[in-house]
Amino acid sequence: MVIRLHRRILAAAALLLTTAILLSWIAAQPVRTVFSPVQMSESIIVLDAGHGGADGGTSGSDGTLESTLNLQIVRRLEWLFLFLGQQTVLTREDEQDLSGPEDHTIGQQKVSDIRARVELVNGLDGAFLISIHQNYLTGHPEVHGAQVFYSQSEEAHQAALAVQDALNLHINPRNEKNCKPAPTEVYLMAHVTAPAILIECGFLSNTQETQLLASADYQKELSAVIAAGYLQYHTKEGTA
Ligand SMILES: [Zn+2]
Repeated sequence: MVIRLHRRILAAAALLLTTAILLSWIAAQPVRTVFSPVQMSESIIVLDAGHGGADGGTSGSDGTLESTLNLQIVRRLEWLFLFLGQQTVLTREDEQDLSGPEDHTIGQQKVSDIRARVELVNGLDGAFLISIHQNYLTGHPEVHGAQVFYSQSEEAHQAALAVQDALNLHINPRNEKNCKPAPTEVYLMAHVTAPAILIECGFLSNTQETQLLASADYQKELSAVIAAGYLQYHTKEGTA
């Protein structure tokens, strides 16, 4: 029991240290050279900015669009993982979705887009999917905070626990949340064969949190915490 407690303290300290290093590195921008302090693995992290194209996702009362925030956060994650020596692939790199010219209605575009994302992930060996979204809860403007959902895989569950711990420590103080299995109706999460986590970074139904989510500083902090949480999971995986 003492050993387990000791390990937990060490793990928490390691997480704090990693996050602090990432945050201080971000604060010291711009950094021109890319180097690899940690050779994470041969795996590929697929970074998925939710929505795009005609589907903007949810939106804040000030017009802040979920699809835009998702892409901004994904871009910051891409940069951080590059710094960590980790290969990444983005499902979308701009505001366009993955539908084709033959998809005329929004319904067709959404189906075609999500199937293309699944195909992309399932076509990559050693993929790990991190999907970024924003939440909205009608009638509860006070609800806020980041929450992680995971696909049906033990790896995904372990990663979700680590990322949620990191988010609770840095983003959700006194507002801790539990990670949860992704609802089965989330097509992407139910159909990818790779382990996958989906992060609802915050609530656009909360005006204050919407402003935070749109700010560069908060996005940098959020992405550093997510990367640190993932690193924590990945390190444990490697030593298990
Ligand atoms: Zn979404």
